[in-house]
Amino acid sequence: MPPETLPTLQRVFGFPGFRGVQADVVGRVLDRRRTLAVMPTGAGKSLCYQLPAVMMDGCCVVVSPLIALMHDQLRAAEAVGIRAATLTSVDQNRGETIARFRDGALDLLYVAPERASSGHFRDLLESARLSLFAIDEAHCVSEWGHDFRPDYRLLAPLMDHFPDVPRLALTATADAHTRADILQQLGIDREGLIVSGFDRPNIRYAISPRSNLNQQLADVIRANPGPGIVYAQTRAATEKLAEALARTGRPTRAYHAGLDPAIRAKNQADFVASEDMVICATVAFGMGIDKPDVRFVAHAGLPKSIEGYYQETGRAGRDGDPSVAHMFWGAEDFARARQRIGEVEPERQPGERQRLSALGALVETGGCRRHVLLRHFGENPVEDCGNCDNCLGSPDARDATETARKFLSAVFRTGQMFGATYVEQVLCGQSTERSLMNGHENLSVWAIVDGDEVGLIKPVLRALMLRDALRTNAHGGLEFGPAARALLKGEASLSVVVPPKRERRGRRAGAA
Ligand code: ADP
Ligand code: ZN
Repeated sequence: MPPETLPTLQRVFGFPGFRGVQADVVGRVLDRRRTLAVMPTGAGKSLCYQLPAVMMDGCCVVVSPLIALMHDQLRAAEAVGIRAATLTSVDQNRGETIARFRDGALDLLYVAPERASSGHFRDLLESARLSLFAIDEAHCVSEWGHDFRPDYRLLAPLMDHFPDVPRLALTATADAHTRADILQQLGIDREGLIVSGFDRPNIRYAISPRSNLNQQLADVIRANPGPGIVYAQTRAATEKLAEALARTGRPTRAYHAGLDPAIRAKNQADFVASEDMVICATVAFGMGIDKPDVRFVAHAGLPKSIEGYYQETGRAGRDGDPSVAHMFWGAEDFARARQRIGEVEPERQPGERQRLSALGALVETGGCRRHVLLRHFGENPVEDCGNCDNCLGSPDARDATETARKFLSAVFRTGQMFGATYVEQVLCGQSTERSLMNGHENLSVWAIVDGDEVGLIKPVLRALMLRDALRTNAHGGLEFGPAARALLKGEASLSVVVPPKRERRGRRAGAA
C-alpha cells in the first residue's frame, strides 16, 4: 500500500486506522486488482472505494441501485470534503455534473445501473479519466441473489469497454453460490474475493412460533427499554401494530412506502432522534439510516431470506452494546412463501426454494442460531455461542416422528380437506357435530393422541408445514406436500423443539 494511504485515511475521514478487511480491500484496489468485498452492513464498505477515489487519478464511478441511498452517500462524502456528485433522473443539476466530470473536478460519481445501457453514458465515461468502477449491492447482478436487477447485467459489458479501469464489487449479503455468480458475472477472479467476519456477537438471536403476537411483541418491548424496530410484512400491519403496541406506554410510529412522504420523513427523523421509540415498519425501513443505538429488532413474521434476516437484525446494536433480535414465525408464513415461489419465473424457483429451506433450517434448529447463520455465510463458527435462545435456554428437542405420523394419517383418513383445528380435534377425540356427521369418530386415528403428546400437536403441525409435508389448499384445508411420504414410510424423522417453560411471562405480568 502506498505510504500516504494511512495519513490520507486520517486526514480526510478522521479515522485512526482501518477496520477489519478494509485494509486488504483498499490495498487491492490501489494495486488496480479486481476485487469482490463481502462485508456485513456497518463494516464500512463505502470507505473501500471512497479512499481510493481520493487517492487515485481520475473519477470513481459508483453504481448503486437506490437513488435515496445515493443521496445519503453523496451528503456523507461531501461532508468530508470529497468532490462528489450523483447523476440520476431526479437530479436537476445534471448539466453541471457532466461538466464537472469532464473537467476532472470529481472524485466520485454516483450513477444508477440503468445508465449503463445507454450509449451516451459510455461516451460520457470516455470523455474523462476514470480511476475505478465501484459496484455497490453487487448481489443484484445475480439471479441467485435475493434482489436480482436485470440492469446490473449491463455493467460487465460497459466495464469491459474500459479494461484498464479496476473494478470493486461490494455486497453485504451473498451466500457461497451468489458470490461465485457475482465473480463470474463481473469478471473478477476467485482470488479477488475478500470476505469479512459476519458475527455480531452483541446481538442475541431468538426465534419463536407466533402465538399471541401483540403480547409477544409487548414482552420484547418491555424487556428492552431502548429504541427498537418491529418489521411487519404489510403496510396495514405496520399501522395496526403501531397502534396496538402504543399500549405498552412507549412512543410508536409506523413506517412504510405508502405513507405521505412528509409523515414518513418525520417518523424516521423522530425515530433517529429518540431514545425509546418503537417503529413498526416494512423492510424498506432502515436502509441508509445510521442509528447506532437500536436495542432490538423484532420480526412479526418470517423474513424473506437468511440474507434479509441478517441485514434487518443487523440494524440492532451497531454501537456494540447488547441488543436483541427476536423473530416470531408461523407455519402459514412458510405456506405463503411457497406460494410466492410458485409465482416467480421458473428459472428462479430453485434458488428461491433453496433460500426458503435455509431459512427453515434456521427457524427449526434446536442448536445454536448463530452457528446456522454464520455457516450460511461460509464461516466456521463455534457450536455454542452462548448468546442465542437455544444456547441460553437449552431447549428441549424431542423426537416427534410418531406424533407427526399420527397427524399425517389423520389428514389422510379425513380426506385431505379439513383445517388444522378439525384435525386436532379428531386426534384428541373431541366430539363435535361435524365429527359425528362425518363419521370420523370411527376412524383408527380418532383420539389417538392424549396426555403429554397433546402439547406436541401444534409444534408438529408447524414443523410439517415448514418442511412441506403439509400444505394448505385454497380453502384452508390441509393436504399432503412432497415431504409427507418419507415420514409416513419411516424414512424420515422429525423432532420439534419444545420451548423452555415460560416463567418469564408470569414474572413480567407480576411486574407490570
Ligand atoms: P456499510 O456500507 O458497510 O454498511 P458504512 O460504509 O456506512 O458501512 O460505514 C458504517 C460506519 O462505520 C460509518 O459510520 C462509517 O463512518 C464508519 N467507519 C467506516 N470505516 C471506519 C474506520 N476505518 N474507522 C472508524 N469508523 C469507520
Ligand atoms: Zn447460540
